[in-house]
Amino acid sequence: MNKVKHVLGISGGKDSAALAIYLHEKYPQIDFTYYYTDTGKELDETYQLLENIEIYLGKKIEHLVAHDAKESSENPFDFFYKSFRGYVPSPTARWCTNMMKLQPFERFVGDETPTVSYVGIRGDEDREGYISKKDNIQSIFPFRKNMWSEDVLHKLFNPKNQSVVLDYYNSVFKGAKLDKVVELLNSEITFERHQRLATERQIKHKLNGLMDLGVIDFNHATFQFLKGTEYPLSFEDDYALLDNEDVLIRDDVFRILRESGVGIPAYYNKIEYEVDGQKGEYARSRSGCFFCFFQQKIEWIWLYEQHPDKFKEAMTYENAKEGFTWNQYESLKDLIEPERIRQIKLDHLKRTNSKKSDDSPYLLDILDDTEGDGCTACFI
Ligand code: SF4
Repeated sequence: MNKVKHVLGISGGKDSAALAIYLHEKYPQIDFTYYYTDTGKELDETYQLLENIEIYLGKKIEHLVAHDAKESSENPFDFFYKSFRGYVPSPTARWCTNMMKLQPFERFVGDETPTVSYVGIRGDEDREGYISKKDNIQSIFPFRKNMWSEDVLHKLFNPKNQSVVLDYYNSVFKGAKLDKVVELLNSEITFERHQRLATERQIKHKLNGLMDLGVIDFNHATFQFLKGTEYPLSFEDDYALLDNEDVLIRDDVFRILRESGVGIPAYYNKIEYEVDGQKGEYARSRSGCFFCFFQQKIEWIWLYEQHPDKFKEAMTYENAKEGFTWNQYESLKDLIEPERIRQIKLDHLKRTNSKKSDDSPYLLDILDDTEGDGCTACFI
């Protein structure tokens, strides 16, 4: 029998840290392997968080470094940056995530071992996580009401697989509830490539309908279906998370971090600034490389004022390549002109003041609208 490996990637962000704590507490019977994919360009606060989590879990977090960069004296980012002859990553050419996060992870898992990968996307988010193309890796999202990945749902709701799903429901439901299941399973579905949006809508309809009849039953039905597939969970006799109905949102994540003593990553803490006699507060909204191109202008200003050495380091990449800027249309040199800083802070203040209803102490909550941008492999 193949032994299933259960892995959890700690990104340095709040959600994956909280997920590690939550699963460790709730499912001590599962032997989790924790890993961290290092770019060499994180803030010190990230390494502090990793240390705190290791102490809490009483277990090492494996630091994965991209294979090619292992023998190099350079950090992984600079190794690839130089290998690509000074080609800097961007939202449209994200070699950084691919080379330094996804590939090391897939190499670490290998091609054989059935592996369940736990992802900290929360119940209050509406996005999909990274789903590996490798057959031996399956993603599970324990913080969401629906813990299954999109690829599983596509197969589950394919009419040719529905008899297995129905078999399960036939054994536990009767009468009107069973009729409702049949109705949902028989509702329209298309898998035409050019009708992707319709497919998603139809899957959502079936999924929500079945989950409304009972999340635990839906999980068991899905598990029964998986038993007839090659998915990693098909190698498990039972799976403790099937009986989990928890849905965890942002406040839960902060609570878990606080109550465990691991603490909230220090870069989320608000710091006061003053502009034109008015007071505002800024912080960083996500983990990842300190020069990540997904960050907002106010976060660049935070970096400049709170970690000037890192900001200077980010500038060296712009200075090395004519025309390159981390931000669209604006160089870091221009960004830190006093008048520009003033303007960015005033804009930020205006935005945050218009979200008065928010009483959370974290800037992240204020930056709600942008949190979804970027990379699920880097920021969760
Ligand atoms: S944090 Fe940003 S720059 Fe770093 S690897 Fe992720 S996407 Fe790339």
